Amino acid sequence: MADRVATQTLARALPALPFVGGDWQERATSQTFDVIDPVTEGTITTVTEADAATVDAAVTAARRAVDGDWGRSDGTERGRALNRLADLVEARADDFADLESLDVGKPGFEPRVIDLPQTVATFRHFAGWADKLEGRSIPTAGYMGRRTLSYTVRRPVGVVAAITPWNSPTMISAWKLAPALAAGCAVVLKPPEDAPLTSLLLAQLAAEAGLPAGTLNVVPGRGATTGNLVIDHPGVDKISFTGSPETGRIVAAAAARRFTPTTLELGGKSPQIVFADADLAQAAQGVAVGIFANQGEVCAAGSRILVAREVYEEFVARLVELAAGVVLGDPFDAGTTMGALINSKQQRRVLQYIELGRSEGARVACGGAAPDRPGYFVQPTFLADATNSMTVAREEIFGPVGAVIPFDDEAQAVDLANDSAYALAATIWTTDLSRAHDVAGRVEAGSVAVNGWSPLDPRLPWGGSKLSGQGRELGRAGLDANTQEKTVTVVL
Ligand code: ADP
Repeated sequence: MADRVATQTLARALPALPFVGGDWQERATSQTFDVIDPVTEGTITTVTEADAATVDAAVTAARRAVDGDWGRSDGTERGRALNRLADLVEARADDFADLESLDVGKPGFEPRVIDLPQTVATFRHFAGWADKLEGRSIPTAGYMGRRTLSYTVRRPVGVVAAITPWNSPTMISAWKLAPALAAGCAVVLKPPEDAPLTSLLLAQLAAEAGLPAGTLNVVPGRGATTGNLVIDHPGVDKISFTGSPETGRIVAAAAARRFTPTTLELGGKSPQIVFADADLAQAAQGVAVGIFANQGEVCAAGSRILVAREVYEEFVARLVELAAGVVLGDPFDAGTTMGALINSKQQRRVLQYIELGRSEGARVACGGAAPDRPGYFVQPTFLADATNSMTVAREEIFGPVGAVIPFDDEAQAVDLANDSAYALAATIWTTDLSRAHDVAGRVEAGSVAVNGWSPLDPRLPWGGSKLSGQGRELGRAGLDANTQEKTVTVVL
C-alpha cells in the first residue's frame, strides 16, 4: 500500500478530463469541480466537468461504436478485449485500491479484498458471456397453411448510460460496463463527483486494452449538471443507475419520457435476522461486518438487526464489544479498520439520524458521535432497543449505524423484515436448515444470505424491488438487460 502523498501524486497525474471518442477532452470553457479528501478535507484534484457539447459528443461516439465495428464484432473479440481489460486492472489493482482509499476514505484492505477482486472477476465473467449471446428457436403455428420457422436473436440495446455512486465506484462501474460491453453496447459512464478518480484510470486502461474509440466514454461532472444531461440525451438507449431513491426517481422520470429501459439500484434497509439457535459468535461477527464494512456506506448494508428476544441482551453486548474493536482512522494506516464518510454533508446526515434515534427512544449502546479529529468520521454505532417504526429503522442512513430490534418468534421476524419500503438484501443467521430455507423464501429481498455476509459474485444476479429499484445487474440477467430480443419468422 502506498502512502497518502504518493497516492495524491498518482491522482494528480491522472488526466482530470472527460474521455470521449478515445481522447481526453480539453475545453477551456468548461466548469470544474474539486475532489475532496474525506480524511484531510483538502482538495485532491480538480476535474473538468463534461458540459452539454461533451456529453453530446460522448453519446455520438458511443453510437458510432455500436453501429460500427464494436457492435458488429464477433463475441470472441469482445471477450478478448474484456479479458485484456481485466488483466490491466489486475496489474494496477494496488493503484486502484489506493485511489479508492484516497477518494472514498475506505481502509486500504477493503478495496484489496472486495472491490478490486470483484472488479476483475466481473470483467472476466462477462468476457465469457460475450460469445454466448444466443437466441432460441420457437415452434410456431404456421401461416396460411404453410409451415413457419421462428427464432430469436439478441442484439445490443445500444448506447448505455452508466451512472455510478461514490461508495464503490470501481466495482460498480465494472458491474455496468462489463455486461454492456460484452453485449456489444457502448457506454457513457458518468462517475460520481465525490469519487471520480478510478473511473479516469479505467478509461486509460480501456484505451490500452484496445477497446475501440467511443466504446467507453467517461463524462465526469456533478449530478444536477452532467448527470442530467446524460439522462435527458435522446441518443441514450438504456440507463443503468445506482444511487439514492430520490435521484432514481429523477432518472426514472427522464427515462419515462422516451420509454428508455432502466436498471435502478437504489439502496436498502436490509434486515439481518438473528435466531436464537444461531452460532451467536459467528452471527455477531457477520452482523458487524454487514453494517460496518465500507463505513456502512453500502447499498446492501444490514442496517436493521432483528434479534430473537431470548438472546437479545447477550447479542447486543457482543455487538458492542465488536464495535469497540473497530479502529477508526486514516485509511492509509495499516491498523485502520474503518475510515471516513465521503463528505461533510454525509457526516452531518448520519449524526442527525443518530440524534433522531435517540429522541425516538433508542438507546445508543455504543458510538453515537464524531471523534474529535479532522475528517468526516463517525464512530461505529449501535442503536439498541429500537423499534421497526422508528425513523432509524425505516430510512437508509448510509453510515456505520445499526438499529437493533428484538423479535418474539419467527413469524414476527419475517413480518418485521418485510415491513420496509426497501427490499434489496437480507441475511439470516440460524443453524436450523429448514428454517434457513423457509425464511429465505419468505423474506422480500433480491438477495438473501444465510450464515454469511452477502457473498458477492458476478455470477449472481443483483438488484431489488420496492424502493430498492428495479431490474438486475450481473449474471445472465445482467447480460440480458443489455440486449433486446428480436424474433424472426420465416414462412417456409
Ligand atoms: P448520493 O446522494 O448518495 O450522492 P445520488 O443518487 O445523488 O447519491 O448519486 C448517485 C449518482 O447519481 C452520482 O453519480 C450523481 O452525480 C448522480 N446524480 C445525482 N443527481 C443526478 C441527476 N439529477 N441526474 C443524473 N444523475 C444524477
